[in-house]
Amino acid sequence: MNKLDAERQKEIQQAEELLFAGPQALGFAKGLFQGHFVSDWVMPYPRIPAAQQTELDDTLTELRKFLDEHLDAAEIDRQADIPRSVIDGLGRIGVLGMTAPKEYGGHGFSQMANCKVLEEIGRRCASTSVFVNAHHSIGIRALLLFGTHEQKQKWLPKLVTGEQLGSFALTEKEAGSDAANVQMQARHSEDGSHFILNGEKRYITNAAIAHELTVMARTPVPGSDKTAITAFLVTPDMPGFEMLEERMPKMGIRGTATGRFALRDVRVPKENILGPLGKGLKVALTVLDFGRTTFGACCTGAAKTCLELAIKHANTRKQFNKTLGNFHLVKKKIARIAADACAMESMTTVTASFIDRGLEDYMLETAMLKVFTTERLWECINDVFQIHGGAAYMTDLPLERMMRDARINQIGEGANEVLTSFIALVGMRGPGMEFKEIYDTMMKPSRNGMSKAWAAGKNRLSATVRVPDVPVQSEPLRAHARQLGRLIRRFNFAVNRALITYREPILDMQLLQERIANVAMDLFASTCVLSRQDSEIQFARRNGDAAAPDHAAADLFLRQSFRRIRSFLAGLTDNDDKSVLATANSCLAKPRS
Ligand SMILES: Cc1cc2nc3c(=O)[nH]c(=O)nc-3n(C[C@H](O)[C@H](O)[C@H](O)COP(=O)(O)OP(=O)(O)OC[C@H]3O[C@@H](n4cnc5c(N)ncnc54)[C@H](O)[C@@H]3O)c2cc1C
Repeated sequence: MNKLDAERQKEIQQAEELLFAGPQALGFAKGLFQGHFVSDWVMPYPRIPAAQQTELDDTLTELRKFLDEHLDAAEIDRQADIPRSVIDGLGRIGVLGMTAPKEYGGHGFSQMANCKVLEEIGRRCASTSVFVNAHHSIGIRALLLFGTHEQKQKWLPKLVTGEQLGSFALTEKEAGSDAANVQMQARHSEDGSHFILNGEKRYITNAAIAHELTVMARTPVPGSDKTAITAFLVTPDMPGFEMLEERMPKMGIRGTATGRFALRDVRVPKENILGPLGKGLKVALTVLDFGRTTFGACCTGAAKTCLELAIKHANTRKQFNKTLGNFHLVKKKIARIAADACAMESMTTVTASFIDRGLEDYMLETAMLKVFTTERLWECINDVFQIHGGAAYMTDLPLERMMRDARINQIGEGANEVLTSFIALVGMRGPGMEFKEIYDTMMKPSRNGMSKAWAAGKNRLSATVRVPDVPVQSEPLRAHARQLGRLIRRFNFAVNRALITYREPILDMQLLQERIANVAMDLFASTCVLSRQDSEIQFARRNGDAAAPDHAAADLFLRQSFRRIRSFLAGLTDNDDKSVLATANSCLAKPRS
């Protein structure tokens, strides 16, 4: 095996171990790639149970009051610090332990309810929402998900109140997007009671203010010379913990403390391992599922702020004797922000409900949510910025700060390019395996192989000819539902064709992967919007509401989303990919000094 093949084999093995261990249920996103509409994942649109809704409403009222009185986002940005009084206040309201079980002092909220809380904070201050995410969505998440009862009893009570803070430390110099390339080493102590950790981490939110850090390090695999990643609970008072830089100066979310630290022969008791030994990557990816969901909530909040600011300015600022809102090119931007904000909220709610329902394997959907909401928010901010003209550029308005703050979203918790490729490749794996079955059998016929290949072939063929049913209840939505079904069939056809045409090289064809992933994301977003519209119409009908709910933004989103899907599909065969790659290759081969 040559070096390239060996590398590829290693990558595939790693991905298999990470993503495909255990039985594979057909989730919503994986279903899309196979031409199915897995309706029970997305319909009816999820609702927070009445009892928890009351609790959530009370919490939101208290939170809004506190934020109105004590949260000054501009000052946090100027001082590059979130005051301790704000952190304490959030702790008192329960925000820092929202989803932790009540027995450990948490609020016991569902992920859907938690997303509403994060949306409220994301509306006002990105530094604060990222701080909360770093502490609660990812910092203490491994403890919540994988901690033993003893570990939880010992650590959680102070963490859920904010008396102590948490942080999640995966990234290193050589392990950024390539998260599996963690170099921090953890070797056994001689008596086997501890692990001794050595290495450095960088870009870690809350590192300098945390009392508990979930740290990923490489441990020996028993009986072999290999190593695997394990999650450790580390505290900064452990001898050898060295803070190299408490607050790395940065462009946005300046209130957060982004730090660099080193562990030099730090002895960590083996009782501090979180989850199984050697399964740290799985722990990290599971934790990030939660982080990416609340990321969606924070982006939704920020998009709603964009809409409010855009409307206010368009209704007040006059040029050419008219308010700006009279100009179609301004209207177009406002309409698009409204449509995107509606989709972001719907998608966040549906994705959070997968976690609450304990569904199996929603990693694709959380990745889609993260990429989709962060990209849309960037567009929303650009639009509201443009509507404000020169005023947006001045520091007395929040827009330049919002723009600086939002830029991290496309990079953090998995750069969008990496996630886009992941969405396409993991999604295509199901149909790809069926084709492989057929291909292998054609090359090497056997009785058993023939029957498996026949089943796979039937599956592929029926998905290609059948338009999946999108079961909406409301008559006015039937046309949209039919169109969505037809686009899913076209998508499935396109996936099959790409797999048959390109076979294994598809693993490296990121321009094609991007179009496939973009279609999948828009199909998922449209589904969430349609499901929500359907529920709202049905709800109004049940309550005898004569007036139909105002669905202009949702309707626009569906139209624009369907149009985008058609254009991504067309781009699979009509594109400039060869020329793009040739140009880039020529530039890369001739670096300019
Ligand atoms: C403010 C801030 C806070 C952070 N907080 C945390 C934290 O709390 N905990 C933590 O562990 N980490 C944290 N991070 C790290 C963050 O998750 C990483 O920055 C991110 O994963 C990207 O890694 P990198 O910066 O090394 O970029 P690189 O891996 O060097 O990637 C650079 C760019 O290359 C491109 N790229 C990379 N790989 C591919 C690929 N396979 N295909 C196509 N394009 C590719 C992408 O465009 C990417 O943006 C934080 C970072 C920042 C800036």
